[in-house]
Amino acid sequence: MDEIGQAERDYVLQVLDKRRVFRYTQDGIEDSEAARLEAIYRERVGTSHCLAVNGGTSALICALVAAGIGPGDEVIIPSYTYIATASAVLQAGAVPVIVDIDDTLTIDPDALEAAITDHTAAVIPVHMRGVPCQMDELVKISREHGLYIIEDVAQANGASYQGQPLGSIGDAGCFSFQQYKMITAGEGGLVATSDDRVFQRASIYHDSAFAMWDSNKTDPAPVETFPGQNYRMSEINAAVALAQSERLDALLRRLRRIKSRIVEALAEVTGIDLQRVPDPAGDASYCLTFFPGQGIDVRQFSSRLSWEGIGNATIYNSGVPDRHIFANWDYVLAKRGVSATNNPWKSPHYSGTVEYPAGLCQKSLNLLGRAIQINLHQDMSDQDVADVIAAVTRTASQLTK
Ligand SMILES: *Cc1c(COP(=O)(O)O)cnc(C)c1O
Repeated sequence: MDEIGQAERDYVLQVLDKRRVFRYTQDGIEDSEAARLEAIYRERVGTSHCLAVNGGTSALICALVAAGIGPGDEVIIPSYTYIATASAVLQAGAVPVIVDIDDTLTIDPDALEAAITDHTAAVIPVHMRGVPCQMDELVKISREHGLYIIEDVAQANGASYQGQPLGSIGDAGCFSFQQYKMITAGEGGLVATSDDRVFQRASIYHDSAFAMWDSNKTDPAPVETFPGQNYRMSEINAAVALAQSERLDALLRRLRRIKSRIVEALAEVTGIDLQRVPDPAGDASYCLTFFPGQGIDVRQFSSRLSWEGIGNATIYNSGVPDRHIFANWDYVLAKRGVSATNNPWKSPHYSGTVEYPAGLCQKSLNLLGRAIQINLHQDMSDQDVADVIAAVTRTASQLTK
């Protein structure tokens, strides 16, 4: 997180020295940084294919379109995720169905099951703030109902669930290398999948001329072509992502050590409940989330921590319109499409009845309204860790009557 060093400089300069900043070649062989990044991610995530793209949003759109999801379909997403998850569903032409999270602050499996209709084609579990979703339950429900699972791993690059890398558990996994993610490429994203057909269709969708580049002519059994976008990753972004990906394991090790010490110390403290984390060992561990006990004023808890010099934030409050909370997704709640004729809710193919009424996902808002988050950093010293533990413990005890 936010480390840029010599490797990033060297790799970018190597690309400039090569004088080829575009990935595909005319000579039938692909020797590119983007291809190297994909190879590293195939190894890391364990899927048979990875496709580098220019953003996490593009990765989600590619995966949805590649899976054949579009007008007439509903896609279930959690109430707590970046607005891009909802926008990607709309860009694919489908209708987002917003469901509650639970005390893991990730999608509630019961809410998923309750929202399934004849129109539901897919679900997008989002591993928010590095915390893995309850994948066992989600996979079981999705399989029973024939839903395609696209994991949104934008905020949890490198995290895992019961030993399996996130992004490899569903049918496709979408990563982001935007600035504020685990590691960055400036802008960038990646689709991981072991589904040959989805990989080929994602590749075609990410480049309107994909099948025509010499580099791609030898691909096995290409599927029928169709119009694409330009979601290609540039060699410069790929070079930054490559350098950054070399940092990822050390970063995860340091963060996990820091968070596990704090969690261990705070587990039994009265006056707070820690977020339930489905697999603590797999948590990317850059965020500590807890709920002050009933009767404690969350704002007061938060400002006391700030006085003690502990940076923290409440999640849902009437202040900042956080785009990670569905209540602030203006164009979704208003069912506003790109234009009057390009509107998934009004598509002649759509016969569902999704609504976003007042009072939607109140459980999520209650949970988010009671949560406090402390961002952890790999460079936190033992003293910093002790300070967090002491401040949270003291505040909890002072505010518990
Ligand atoms: C950042 C983010 C995205 C979008 O990624 P971009 O690279 O910014 O397009 C999607 N989903 C979640 C949960 C995110 O945090």
